[in-house]
Amino acid sequence: MTFQKTDLAQRDLDSVWHPCTQMHDHPRVPMIAITHGQGIWLYDDHGQHYLDAVSSWWTNLFGHAEPHIASAIKDQLEQLEHVIFAGFTHQPAVELAERLIQITPSGLERVFYADNGSSAVEVGLKMSYHYWRNCGYHDKTRFATLSGSYHGETLGALSVSDVALYRSTYAPLLLTPVIVPSPDAYQRETGESWKAFAHRRLADMRAVFEQQADSLCAVIVEPLVQCAGGMRMYHPSYLHGLRQLCDEFQVHMIADEIAVGFGRTGTLFACEQAHIRPDFMLLSKGLTGGFLPLAAVLTTAEIYAAFYAEYTSHKAFLHSHSYTGNPLACRAALATLDLFRDRPVLERNHELAAHLGRMVAPLVEHPHVAEVRQTGMIAAVELVQDKASRRPFPAVQRRGLDVYLYCLKHGVLQRPLGDIIYFMPPYCITTEEIELMVRTATAGINHATS
Ligand code: PMP
Repeated sequence: MTFQKTDLAQRDLDSVWHPCTQMHDHPRVPMIAITHGQGIWLYDDHGQHYLDAVSSWWTNLFGHAEPHIASAIKDQLEQLEHVIFAGFTHQPAVELAERLIQITPSGLERVFYADNGSSAVEVGLKMSYHYWRNCGYHDKTRFATLSGSYHGETLGALSVSDVALYRSTYAPLLLTPVIVPSPDAYQRETGESWKAFAHRRLADMRAVFEQQADSLCAVIVEPLVQCAGGMRMYHPSYLHGLRQLCDEFQVHMIADEIAVGFGRTGTLFACEQAHIRPDFMLLSKGLTGGFLPLAAVLTTAEIYAAFYAEYTSHKAFLHSHSYTGNPLACRAALATLDLFRDRPVLERNHELAAHLGRMVAPLVEHPHVAEVRQTGMIAAVELVQDKASRRPFPAVQRRGLDVYLYCLKHGVLQRPLGDIIYFMPPYCITTEEIELMVRTATAGINHATS
């Protein structure tokens, strides 16, 4: 197959500025104009189709154009497309809040809506800071985060992120968080278990809390998988220990489940595997099944109560987006929750994840693969130049981009994070499609490393 510029792709390149893209890469990297999607497949205006191995930036859960979600949105369109969400409310927003409270860890009892993941992070950070201020703790003004973490790219969210690619340029504009070493199991010693390493890294967090808890509002974490930082995975006991430290030192725990929530890690929410309740849980991406932008910040009754006071006390939480609680997005989210309720999604995912694991396992023998790792429906393959020392390929070689281009030519949308090839497909994927996806990526890896 050869790539040709289509009219639409050319018009795009003449007028649009894309996210996370050096536009100069085009047209060496083809711009693909998608006309429609169906299930796991995306179709372009040349009649090519692509298996969406990355769930369109981790948003899509049940496939493109999933009929139940699509029809819920159509139905909502005829009733109410949007309404100001201050002083006014509507059925989809109320019902969604009630249902999110039911399915998230017990003790999360209030839902604040935003319209994308980064905004949810901003809300979580501001709410935590404001809570302490409302309670008289004026010295608590800082945040702790893990090395290698990613929480979005608005200035507040970027401040608590530690991926150089996104952060370095803007560093002079950002808050300075305390960056604590991540429990990322890739960094463990040879022979050390994920669990033992997680415990070792908890000691680093304890040391930070001992010194600085008085100035810390919260610690923010991506539970179990640090996604944009390279699908870096860690043992659930870290979250359990972190919860205990947060209680001991009076620091909030913000669980950013924007990428890992809604079944990606094997449980509905990653925090469940550590049996913990964070003080704030952030949800977005899969919340609407990948159909519409929406985010939800869940928190406790106690935190809510610290804002509930006479108007003149100036304790109200002031954070507003025009599209807060958009009814169409809330209906999409309700339809998504219906699918979790009515279908054995997690059970089926368990089988799919096992198959994915079997398919990626042989890659561990590859001369340029340092590690193959998996948590639930997320699997990642770490490409390196030297297997023994784990020395990476020089970044300028852009081996991951070669994998991307190879897979695209062979009908799979595979978008590596640097040289980390990962699989995070929609849950409607079949075992045959898993095989196709992994075989294509394996051929792409061979091509890019030969
Ligand atoms: N947090 C995490 C863990 C994410 O993976 C992302 C997006 N990749 C965000 C926050 C930001 O979400 P959004 O892109 O919707 O702003």
